[in-house]
Amino acid sequence: MRILNPATGALITEIPEDGAFAVRKKYARARSASAAWAATPIGKRIDAIRRFREQVVARHETLARTLTEEIGKPIRQSRNELNGLLPRLDFFVAEAARALREEKVHADAKEKLEERITHEPLGVIANISAWNYPYFVGSNVLVPALLAGNTVLYKPSEFATLTGQHIGEMLHAAGVPADAFITVLGSGMSGAALLRQPVDAVFFTGSYATGARIGAAAGRKMIKVQLELGGKDPVYVCDDADLKAAAASLADGAFYNTGQSCCSVERIYVHERIHDAFVDAFVAEVKGFRTGDPMDESTYIGAITRQPQLDVLRRQVADARRKGAKLLTGGNVVKGKGNWFEPTVFAGVDHRMALMRDESFGPIIGIQKVASDDEAVALMNDTEYGLTAGVYTPDEKRARRILSRVRAGSAYWNCCDRVSPRLPWSGVGHSGIGLTLSTYGIQTFTRPKAWHLRGA
Ligand code: NDP
Repeated sequence: MRILNPATGALITEIPEDGAFAVRKKYARARSASAAWAATPIGKRIDAIRRFREQVVARHETLARTLTEEIGKPIRQSRNELNGLLPRLDFFVAEAARALREEKVHADAKEKLEERITHEPLGVIANISAWNYPYFVGSNVLVPALLAGNTVLYKPSEFATLTGQHIGEMLHAAGVPADAFITVLGSGMSGAALLRQPVDAVFFTGSYATGARIGAAAGRKMIKVQLELGGKDPVYVCDDADLKAAAASLADGAFYNTGQSCCSVERIYVHERIHDAFVDAFVAEVKGFRTGDPMDESTYIGAITRQPQLDVLRRQVADARRKGAKLLTGGNVVKGKGNWFEPTVFAGVDHRMALMRDESFGPIIGIQKVASDDEAVALMNDTEYGLTAGVYTPDEKRARRILSRVRAGSAYWNCCDRVSPRLPWSGVGHSGIGLTLSTYGIQTFTRPKAWHLRGA
């Protein structure tokens, strides 16, 4: 497997891919380690994750540079991802024992009856992960899964292979047994080989297209499956919003990580009373973003990680222009080495355009004028996805009224593109099934067992 730098096209290294035989052997190791890891006291498992955190802190700059080199993320944003990982680890470490402890839910002394719930590990789980935030999407799954006593077969995306290797090395250095956490390296083929093993559960982060296939296969096997998939996340800017503040916040929400976030702002609706002034302020923000060498400290827009995505973006631009949208800035693939696309803003868009319907996953956004809150709600809901949605207004009641009518896993008032370890992260529709983060996102890696205990 050739690991390429998406910013330059240069070869970073070559790594042998795990074929079907290697994957089978790795599965057998994970299965044989399962009982011992499940029986390891929770305190020891928590200590291991604490030491993993220490590893992340100690290796911070090396990890950030590897991430930037292999996925083209601007170096400051790679550091931000690692900094953001720490509070997630702190949350899991602080909450795991409470979330996983045995619960007494009923006691009847006269009947000598007790009812209890224990949280049993699922067993051997397959974690197939995306490349865009490998530390976030990886740790949302593999950390609580390990804390809950599961052994984990972790397949990072081929585009985040070196980061996946770092994660494995750090967990092992932290004391997680080599067979309790195993990295499976390779492309989608290795992922498919992993899913042919008799794992007990599948936790997948990636696109709707792949997720739908994986969900169907898991359904036939009757194993637990969680799918964290894409989005086409909408935001509505009301007529009473602070338009300069909203423009700055939304430009960041749409273009951070070069627009390659599951919860990137992908559609903006603006009330007609402030539409033109908002568009001017938004375009000014975007024109201020610096595109360039991802290792440069001042770079904000980095490379497009997967080369085929350039075609998706190119097609969305052509389609929007053909159907009458107004291109305000950008619109082109940048010629030269590596994968680059200009930050692109359209106004005058509508829902006939792919730009407003299909996940873009790149530095491109459409802004649509609306006449009322009702029209905004109807357009926000006119999608198969449902990951996040936001409203900008000083009026909390108005924001809550609108957001309570929008079908999405997360609701944002005057903010966007934000994830908290304390809150569940989930999607509806094509954005997925299940959740990570919050205490629910620890318990999701367990099977609640019901105990009916009657004394003699
Ligand atoms: P993909 O669906 O292309 O890939 C996801 C993972 O699945 C990768 O590890 C990939 O391997 C693997 N894979 C591909 N084909 C198969 C197969 N047939 N069987 C098993 N595994 C397979 O998504 P991306 O990695 O490109 O990630 C981008 C998508 O992820 C976007 O849609 C984004 O919105 C979504 N996402 C969702 C998040 C959420 O929390 N809801 C968070 C982050 C991203 P390989 O890459 O090696 O081909």
